[in-house]
Amino acid sequence: MSTSNLFQHLLSPLDLGFTTLKNRALMGSMHTGLEDHSRDFNKLAEYYAERARGGVALIVTGGFAPNIEGCLTPFGSRLASRGAAAKHRHITDTVHQNGGKIALQILHGGRYSYAPICVAPSRIKSPISPFAPIGLPSWGVQRQINCYVRAATLAKDAGYDGVEIMGSEGYFINQFLCEHTNKRTDKWGGSLENRTRMAIEIVRKTRAAVGKDFIIIYRISLLDLVPDGQTWSDIVYLAKKIEQAGATLLNTGIGWHEARKPTIVTSVPRGAFSWITQKLKQEVSIPVIATNRINTPDVAEGILAAGHADMVSMARPFLADPEFINKSASGRADEINTCIGCNQACLDHIFKRKVASCLVNPRACHEIELKIEPTHAPKNIAVVGAGPAGLACATTLAARGHKVELYEASAELGGQFNMAKKIPGKAEFYETLRYYARQLERHRVSVHLNHRATVDELLKFDHVVVATGVVPRRVKIEGNKLPHVMSYTDLLQGRKTAGRRVAVIGAGGIGFDVCEFLVHDGSQETPSVAQWLAEWGIVDPAVAAGGLGTPKFKASDREIFLLQRKSTSIGKGLGKTTGWIHRLNLKKHNVKMISGVNYDKIDEQGLHISFGEHKTSPQILQVDSVILCAGQESLKELYEPLQAKGVKVDLIGGAFLAAELDAKMAIDQATRLALKL
Ligand code: FAD
Ligand code: NAP
Ligand code: SF4
Repeated sequence: MSTSNLFQHLLSPLDLGFTTLKNRALMGSMHTGLEDHSRDFNKLAEYYAERARGGVALIVTGGFAPNIEGCLTPFGSRLASRGAAAKHRHITDTVHQNGGKIALQILHGGRYSYAPICVAPSRIKSPISPFAPIGLPSWGVQRQINCYVRAATLAKDAGYDGVEIMGSEGYFINQFLCEHTNKRTDKWGGSLENRTRMAIEIVRKTRAAVGKDFIIIYRISLLDLVPDGQTWSDIVYLAKKIEQAGATLLNTGIGWHEARKPTIVTSVPRGAFSWITQKLKQEVSIPVIATNRINTPDVAEGILAAGHADMVSMARPFLADPEFINKSASGRADEINTCIGCNQACLDHIFKRKVASCLVNPRACHEIELKIEPTHAPKNIAVVGAGPAGLACATTLAARGHKVELYEASAELGGQFNMAKKIPGKAEFYETLRYYARQLERHRVSVHLNHRATVDELLKFDHVVVATGVVPRRVKIEGNKLPHVMSYTDLLQGRKTAGRRVAVIGAGGIGFDVCEFLVHDGSQETPSVAQWLAEWGIVDPAVAAGGLGTPKFKASDREIFLLQRKSTSIGKGLGKTTGWIHRLNLKKHNVKMISGVNYDKIDEQGLHISFGEHKTSPQILQVDSVILCAGQESLKELYEPLQAKGVKVDLIGGAFLAAELDAKMAIDQATRLALKL
């Protein structure tokens, strides 16, 4: 089959009447942290320009508030004056010069705004913000509508091709739509007509102000996933009115930020929510856009070919690979660097007030500072270790024109990712390994598998990069050599199996992953979308308002204890946007989480533990397996001998630092080094 046939729906243009989008891919709105200060707009422009060159039809910016009370953070991104609009010109011009189109997202935080001046339909504090909002008087609602219209007009003046009006995810407009947050008794609350009035007025007045040749995307919440959310008939009523009010496109929104249902993380099956966009498509005549966990051209094409949507929105996949569309269009889909849904460098950064990036592509949002430029002085470089650090370093060095030899002691590329990919819900890690394998091939890196590199054979190179990773930490507990004690590597690499009653020592990321592996009995079977939705209790909003059903988990029959010595709550160090899902998942499987533990000894009876300095409340956990997930130590035996022999050598990844090391740091450090050599 020819390439163009392969993704023919994805690559076909979409005629909007007054303008044509060159394909069906929309880069969804993602806050990057570069929107808040105009001094960063040159970086933002280059970040968008790279995506425009990469072929995406329409980019939606991160959210800009229409006024100060709508800002997500104090003095955060906002478009409310001519002066501010003028600063956007550089962004829109750069995108247009690179063949793209761009719409500005108007995002009013409402009660999600992290500031005491935040406003909402009613004074009801959100569970994810410390500030109770000010309930708006009726004239105040009118003022907010006018501010949306002003922001859209300013966006048009600034050269944007359109705006996206953010009506989902639990932000301001969504707060008016649902009784969960709208307790008003005036014309903006109560009946469906009243609750939807503000959203419809915003679109109607915006259309009147911007004229007909300007894209208006309305992001509509199709599954609120909170109590007292919208029913399907509410949503259809709103969608039809929004269409009549003049919207060009309807984009899908899934789940309020406060919803306790996963919607975008890696364990959510790909394309899990396109069925609800399909339902909407049957009700309206303007094009609709599907979103969430669409991360490969095959998934995008499947959704479009099945008629579930007219366009697909992908946000994080364009952080991971700006060339997603060009690669799809030119028969190079196997070269796409796939978003693995980890949130580690994108959303988790935003919550920490750091500029977003991407675990698999550290250049994202750092395009100016991290350019891949050809080297003027090609060297012979050895990279030792083909884990994420070694792979990122070797491929980047080779892309720049160095001659690279990659040594790997084991039989396969990937290092610890070969264990990570076996964890249920983490199958996306296979994609990263596929990507790197293809990059090694493209850039002609000589790969030596089953080859533990020695100091002597490395002496001939101009430069050596040691990326030999880590070994599991040896813990000093009496009985740790008994046959029923194993490290996570023994379990995940299949050298040992666990019994039915298990104690897991160490509750870091790997302790949690090992528990996931155990509760699923090591099965790698990915649940179908229907099974996954049922497990989490996500249903059609025609069946239950907001799509909130009852979860149907099949608890594991293993008895598992997850333990740590610290007295802090278990899982505290996990990612902000993913940790709660891991904790909830294990709780549902009855994993007992115990902190503040002393490990006294292990014997045939099980694991003996006690608590505190004085070893109080001693008890025996009667387990038949003990799994050690107690962190790692660097493996860097090559480094000093090479240095001693005068070889130019660098140390990266786990070999450089084992504590708090994760793949994000490993790949970032490796890439930065490779760009310098
Ligand atoms: P490694 O991955 O350890 O690779 C080092 C490689 O060097 C190995 O392949 C080894 O065989 C090879 N080697 C060693 N000595 C030699 C030698 N002398 N010659 C040749 N080759 C040699 N991180 C995240 O960020 N997010 C996650 O979700 C995540 N999940 C994980 C889940 C599990 C189950 C595990 C085990 C880890 C997970 N990690 C995760 C951690 C992540 O995998 C590591 O941080 C990362 O792999 C470190 O990369 P590295 O290249 O430095 O080392
Ligand atoms: P980790 O996060 O450092 O956790 C190690 C655990 O072992 C801690 O719970 C620690 O808690 C315990 N521990 C440390 N020393 C010990 C000792 N001597 N005896 C007994 N217990 C000890 O390391 P990890 O879980 O091995 O993960 C490695 C890296 O991979 C981390 O950076 C992690 O972020 C990353 N990773 C990430 C994910 C993800 O989903 N994002 C998943 C897996 C791994 P106490 O000291 O309190 O006992
Ligand atoms: Fe995707 Fe993870 Fe990159 Fe975010 S950090 S874009 S989730 S791969």
